[in-house]
Amino acid sequence: MKCTVCKKEATIRLHRHKAKFCNEHFIEYVYRQVERAIKSFKMFRKDENLIVAVSGGKDSMACIEVLNEMGYRVTGVHINLGIHEFSEKSEEIVRKFSRETGIPIKVYYLKELFGKEIIEFKRPYAEKICSICGKLKRYYLNIIASELGGDAIVTGHNLDDACSILLGNLLFAQVQYLSKQYPVVEGEGELPRKVKPLIRLTDDELKQYVELRKIPFVQEKCPLSKGANTIYYKEVLNYLETKIRSVKAEFYFNYLKKLRPYFLNEEETEVKYCRVCGYKTSSRSGICYVCSIKNELEGSDDKGPY
Ligand code: SF4
Ligand SMILES: [Zn+2]
Ligand SMILES: [Zn+2]
Repeated sequence: MKCTVCKKEATIRLHRHKAKFCNEHFIEYVYRQVERAIKSFKMFRKDENLIVAVSGGKDSMACIEVLNEMGYRVTGVHINLGIHEFSEKSEEIVRKFSRETGIPIKVYYLKELFGKEIIEFKRPYAEKICSICGKLKRYYLNIIASELGGDAIVTGHNLDDACSILLGNLLFAQVQYLSKQYPVVEGEGELPRKVKPLIRLTDDELKQYVELRKIPFVQEKCPLSKGANTIYYKEVLNYLETKIRSVKAEFYFNYLKKLRPYFLNEEETEVKYCRVCGYKTSSRSGICYVCSIKNELEGSDDKGPY
């Protein structure tokens, strides 16, 4: 098998592009896809301050490494969520990577930010822990990124993530989320915009990239993750991809171009700000999700282990 670019021995085959690459040209391909996403969606410029959310998983590790290699100004933010060994290991990997590469990554602790670790939530909160965890991460990431003077918050979402979320929203006609399916979401008020520069790369391509570049990442799954529907959506999409070449990219980018415009005016909710912390909220009570959950927890003697 020969590299499509240089005709030397190829190591990686990409069916969806009918291409084969040697290591060097595969890396070049990854940078090209990232650059294309940044330019075509006007994500950020070289002189902007990028705050990269680094969980320790392969996508976020690849994301900060690629952007750094491409000469962007990156600062990583890692939030230790307090999920036993899983969080300890994630923090260790992120810290080691930062030390060895010189890429700055700041580490924060949910316990210090919120007063409680994820593992400390018990019923009824424990039943919807991923939803709570996701909201807490978003909330504190926004606050930290603003404090650090970030122009944009960068996340490592890839094409498979975007397709599975889109499929779920379409299946259940989640009209309120469909307009938000876009690789750039403008920040409200003081908040930086959110961007997804890995949107043109698949799960598999990123896996090959981190292996090739010997980027460390957390291999274990979070012990609290339950069988989310997105796993099934990804399986279906992977199956389709084996039958219909490039179907994921067609699905997502055609949606953005041809269908998303129909959903743009669906949601015209007035932006309000939390009267406790000032964070944006759409809640009728005027108190954001994180402040109201804090109030609930303080009002109860809900402590104890998860
Ligand atoms: S799986 Fe759920 S609890 Fe674990 S890190 Fe992800 S969102 Fe948080
Ligand atoms: Zn080559
Ligand atoms: Zn609030």
